Amino acid sequence: MPIKAPKGTRDILPEDIYQWNFVEEKFANLCKRFGYKEIRIPVFEHTELFQRGVGDTTDIVQKEMYTFLDKGGRSISLRPEGTAGVVRSFIEHGMSSLPQPVKLFYQITAYRYENVQKGRYREFNQFGAELLGASDPAADVEIITLLALFFQDLGIKNLELNLNSIGCPKCRGEYNKKLRAYLESKIEGMCDTCKDRFHRNPLRILDCKEETCKSIVKDAPALLDNICDECRDHFKKVTDKLNAIGIIYNIDKGIVRGLDYYTKTVFEFVSRNIGSQGTVCGGGRYDGLVEECGGPPTPGIGFALGVERLLLEMQNQGIEIPKPEAPDIYIGAIGEKAELVSERLAWQLRQHNITCIKDIMGRSVKAQMKYADKIGANYVLILGDDEIETNKAKLKDMRTGDTKDITLDTLIDRLIKNKA
Ligand code: ATP
Ligand code: MG
Repeated sequence: MPIKAPKGTRDILPEDIYQWNFVEEKFANLCKRFGYKEIRIPVFEHTELFQRGVGDTTDIVQKEMYTFLDKGGRSISLRPEGTAGVVRSFIEHGMSSLPQPVKLFYQITAYRYENVQKGRYREFNQFGAELLGASDPAADVEIITLLALFFQDLGIKNLELNLNSIGCPKCRGEYNKKLRAYLESKIEGMCDTCKDRFHRNPLRILDCKEETCKSIVKDAPALLDNICDECRDHFKKVTDKLNAIGIIYNIDKGIVRGLDYYTKTVFEFVSRNIGSQGTVCGGGRYDGLVEECGGPPTPGIGFALGVERLLLEMQNQGIEIPKPEAPDIYIGAIGEKAELVSERLAWQLRQHNITCIKDIMGRSVKAQMKYADKIGANYVLILGDDEIETNKAKLKDMRTGDTKDITLDTLIDRLIKNKA
């Protein structure tokens, strides 16, 4: 029996890779336009980083993480997201002494032990950005506009931007008391995880995916109605700026986000098309995280975007991604002399940035022509003894079927001109 890929993982095949390359390049270029620099972080970290940096009362850490002991007996986890690793790196490399803010972006795979469905995998890809060292509402707006522009650049329409504020530790303390008072009489109906959360972090109950817990929290007091003046003022400034730019949003008091470390602004971009996997992107402010992970007090805000869901949404909206260019030329040869010349020609063409495929199978002329057609080469040149002797050959334009007599010395110039 051949071995299959593990459940929840997917190969990105050569015929699809252009779609990935396209969105990756767009995202990287856009981030650079906003002054963000790329960072690459490890696939695995010490488990403790995610317990602290994602939060040990979250679904991700409690239920979804790939955790194992390595051969040295250390507890290691595959990254379930990127923010914790970026923040660890920020602290480890003393980035707080760089000019602030520090603006970083990444393109990573992430790993979660999930119920696999369309748009929900165990290995998946995220694009993300983190803006560290800026507490002003302008930073929240920069992150949101970067995303809005990304979707606009890709031609994606109708993603809903949902916004909320989940306050700061100060107002959350007060709110937790209110929430506990509301939930106290309903504990028995909650799932076991939430019974534990009731004592440790009742806010997490608002994000539980169990139906019973969902129905219990439906009428719970909203955090947004209970935030302190500073958080309210911050939120108002964010929405005022979005209004000024003309970015449309909904206020959704139900968003708490899946990570423990969020403060103040939280947001999601949601599609109506992908169903329950409709959240294409989520993010928010995390002013306590750097300190939580052992660094100096540093505000931060960022997001992570699911690339599989992004591509799914583009497909649903009928957005065509430009296909890769066909090979410029296929060079075939019959006979030893011609083969040597074709080697030299292919070498020269490739040096001039021309995509050249040459025969490496020793096929017959007929088979070579068939192959050139299959790979969609724009031009075909077949060399034989005659061509070598006269230094002339027939260049066939496969798109029109026309054939031109050319001298071999002019081939490179001709192809360069055609490409221009
Ligand atoms: P969900 O509520 O759908 O489980 P989440 O809140 O767990 O999402 P985040 O931790 O905010 O997701 O991750 C950011 C983004 O990464 C999501 O909005 C989504 O697009 C994508 N994502 C998260 N989990 C998966 C997964 N298992 N497979 C594919 N994409 C995912
Ligand atoms: Mg999730």
